[in-house]
Amino acid sequence: MSYPQITQMATDNKSPKKNLRTSAQSADFHMVYGNQTITYRVLYAARRTMEIAVHPDGQVVIKAPADVKPEAIRHRVHKRARWITRQIAYFQQFQPRTPPRRYVGGETHLYLGRQYRLKLSKGGSDGVKLARGYFIVSYRDEASPATVRQLLDRWYLVKARAKFSELLELRLPEFQRMGYDKPTLHIRRMKTRWGSLSSNGVLTLNRDLIRAPRDCIDYVITHELCHLKYSNHSPEFYRLLERFLPDWERRKARLDLGLV
Ligand SMILES: [Zn+2]
Repeated sequence: MSYPQITQMATDNKSPKKNLRTSAQSADFHMVYGNQTITYRVLYAARRTMEIAVHPDGQVVIKAPADVKPEAIRHRVHKRARWITRQIAYFQQFQPRTPPRRYVGGETHLYLGRQYRLKLSKGGSDGVKLARGYFIVSYRDEASPATVRQLLDRWYLVKARAKFSELLELRLPEFQRMGYDKPTLHIRRMKTRWGSLSSNGVLTLNRDLIRAPRDCIDYVITHELCHLKYSNHSPEFYRLLERFLPDWERRKARLDLGLV
């Protein structure tokens, strides 16, 4: 599947270099532009240029050298406001994504980022298996959409448990070396988020994440594990995330644009 251009960047080369800010903060700023309000987040980093990125979910992120004043950033955002609002509008056309599933034969469903066509097959016992691009749902007597949904949901949950644990185990050693314990993994359905990490060490992942590509699942897990060290979304948090996953923005964009 080809994705549309997933991030748009604008960069420039103004690079004053002095008075490195030591404890940078991250916050959301607002700017009124025409009849719209642009909300943007500033991340200070050890870099020489300012970069504006509009993410597919509409987030506007400014990466700035540590010594750039908020007014200078504001000025830059103002200058680029037209472009920013155009990018936001561009990404909006891809939402909403998936039409509601009806659980009938021929319909496609996702697993690990791939589409599989639903094939209903009477006979044998109730169950789901993947074969040659198909989700084959077998059933004994009758397959109402509700039954198909139940069978598929059960299958997804089993796969989610196995796959999420496997990916968590792969990421864990890096965090254990930093002295953190393995969080308890919970899987549940969540409406508005992919994952969360509670202060008592429970990592909750959205069950629907099993529909997304492996890379994206790994991104959510790594993001949440970084919260072991930083509970907020400070620049330090993003620096840590970037250390583990230099391409996290690409993965996040894919998740935001995905058909999950
Ligand atoms: Zn977070």
